[in-house]
Amino acid sequence: MIPCFIMFLIKNLSVSIDDQPIINDLNLQVAPGTIHAIMGPNGSGKSTLAYTLAGHPNYKIERGSIVFNNQNVTKLPPDKRAQAGLFLAFQHPCEIPGVTVSNFLKEAYAAITTTQISVEEFHQLLQKKMKLLNIDPSFAYRNLNDGFSGGEKKRLEMLQLLVLKPKLAILDEIDSGLDIDALKIVAQGLTQARRENPSMSVIIITHYQRILNYIKPDFVHILMNGNIVQSGDATLAHSLEQRGYQQFHGDQATQ
Ligand code: ADP
Ligand code: MG
Repeated sequence: MIPCFIMFLIKNLSVSIDDQPIINDLNLQVAPGTIHAIMGPNGSGKSTLAYTLAGHPNYKIERGSIVFNNQNVTKLPPDKRAQAGLFLAFQHPCEIPGVTVSNFLKEAYAAITTTQISVEEFHQLLQKKMKLLNIDPSFAYRNLNDGFSGGEKKRLEMLQLLVLKPKLAILDEIDSGLDIDALKIVAQGLTQARRENPSMSVIIITHYQRILNYIKPDFVHILMNGNIVQSGDATLAHSLEQRGYQQFHGDQATQ
């Protein structure tokens, strides 16, 4: 029996890529409106977990289940998971010349909400959300990620959160390669998105503690060799900064 306050439940999840086990018997519970950080060294399986949760076909679920809002989504394709309210921000978002930010977001909005919206209505909605993030109106007419700076790519990710209003946002290494200004854009965008959508839960996947200075997690989990080896509150991330991953056993501690 799953208590109703748990919105997202990963139970005994084991995942392999090309017959190689990567995630081993992983458990995680996420309540509505909470922020979880999953931290681990390179190669510990962070992106594998993110792609598996999003439903990427290359990642084979050997055992276990993923339950989202009392619905078992373990076997659902990515589009159905997105419709159920799951959002994944990729480490390296793709550039699509010829597709504008506005067109892309309108299509995504229609696909996820399964409602039709007129161009004019969507324009109003988009401009309102862009204003909340202090984004210039002309941003809507630029080609998707084409020539975007690191900060602009992150603005687009945050704008997606505001427009698509997911129930769970998974941000994989959203801090990688960002300067302080871009980190602040992410932190402010997340704050704004949570204000508009307070029950949204967030999983921040990261190698470094730095982003957690700007976004305070309710829970921190350490991922080593495809399993969560320790969980705690935000102070766990500070201890990590001081003493590194070495304090947690595993062959990857030096990475
Ligand atoms: P992280 O995101 O924590 O750096 P990954 O999930 O990317 O870790 O990788 C975890 C392990 O899975 C690594 O050993 C990596 O080499 C392996 N791996 C990841 N993707 C693939 C793939 N497409 N094919 C084979 N092995 C992979
Ligand atoms: Mg990764």
